[in-house]
Amino acid sequence: MNNSPPEHVPLTQFAIQDNCLQIGGIPLTRLLQRIGTTPFYAYDRHKITQRIGLLREHLPTEIHLHYAMKANPMPAVVQHLAGLVDGIDVASVGEMKIALDTTLPPGRISFAGPGKKGHELSCAIAAGVVLNMESEQEMELIAQYGECLGITPKVAIRINPNFELKSSGMKMGGGPKPFGVDAERVPNMLMRLHALGLDFLGFHIFGGSQNLNAEAIQEAHTKAFQLGLQLAEHALSPVQLINIGGGFGVPYFPGDQALNLPIIGENLRHLVPEVKRQLPHAQIVIELGRYMVAEAGIYVCRVLERKLSREHIFLITDGGLHHHLAASGNFGQVIRKNYPVVIGNKVYGTETETETETVSIVGPLCTPLDVLVEHMQMTKASVGDLVVVLQSGAYGLTASPTSFLNHPIPIEVLV
Ligand SMILES: *Cc1c(COP(=O)(O)O)cnc(C)c1O
Repeated sequence: MNNSPPEHVPLTQFAIQDNCLQIGGIPLTRLLQRIGTTPFYAYDRHKITQRIGLLREHLPTEIHLHYAMKANPMPAVVQHLAGLVDGIDVASVGEMKIALDTTLPPGRISFAGPGKKGHELSCAIAAGVVLNMESEQEMELIAQYGECLGITPKVAIRINPNFELKSSGMKMGGGPKPFGVDAERVPNMLMRLHALGLDFLGFHIFGGSQNLNAEAIQEAHTKAFQLGLQLAEHALSPVQLINIGGGFGVPYFPGDQALNLPIIGENLRHLVPEVKRQLPHAQIVIELGRYMVAEAGIYVCRVLERKLSREHIFLITDGGLHHHLAASGNFGQVIRKNYPVVIGNKVYGTETETETETVSIVGPLCTPLDVLVEHMQMTKASVGDLVVVLQSGAYGLTASPTSFLNHPIPIEVLV
């Protein structure tokens, strides 16, 4: 019997040369010289390109791929992705501005999220982006603003499905939810939508985030199409869009396995022809945030001090939860688990010896929550060494409370 604790999957996306992690073909130590200061985030554009290639390879060609920008809204990252994907999903006017600065036509940009304010709706209608409506009240407001502006708004209905995405890290559909319109209310909403004269495109069905269970995703896709087809019977104009959401996960924690993309693709190859047969005008969209960018990014901070407290070694760094809330375990985790972390300038130890030790890595904030690594076996690090948090390209900097304790905001680079 094997009782050893689970480990992180080997993360091989970044080459290691002379014991130093490389990103974008640049040794980390050289990149640090170029940036001039820690902490920083670095994203590898080639890894992002490769990831979109992988999706294109395994998903049916009819699937349109959209990027959900909230995962990483760095403008350079979004510009790069805009040349690779078919559309962008935004969740605020700030994100919409970044998306409109790309070469994508506004009709390929969709705006989702509850509680959209009047001026946001008005800006989005004027821009010509698709509004994923989250409620009946929002629909009435959209119609009013459209009339004021003299523009017919393009809309889709976000549905709160009558099923849940199983095994999802964060559930965003099924049961009572603030997101979308309960499926059973949609037929009435469609009648009203028609009476209001809105330009109806179709449905948006999104169940949850960070899912590593391919069978659960297959089931969610099957049910989303069933629901979409069922509701399409109530539409008074042809359905032009079925967005079945995203939520593909990446391995972060010990024991996590990479998502089985081929079997998700195979299931879609069975489902898509029937949807196309029943709704010949419908574009089928999958929108992904995390899966497109998470593994392409790293967060880098520096060891300021080695501290021994009652036999336990703490590495105190200049980075922490104010920059990377997710790695600290405070962004959607129930039980805190360690992200994959390496000492980037000596991945395998020093030149002369390979020594490991069990350490905790903490940040400079005066709170016990400011932990990047808890009791993990790592190569022995000294003051000045570089702590690299892998899998940090999504829900990193902009999902963190950067104002907490008012340290400087880290730099982000796309290499
Ligand atoms: C957050 C979000 C996504 C992206 O989720 P990921 O888990 O990052 O793929 C997609 N669609 C909507 C509407 C979202 O709010």
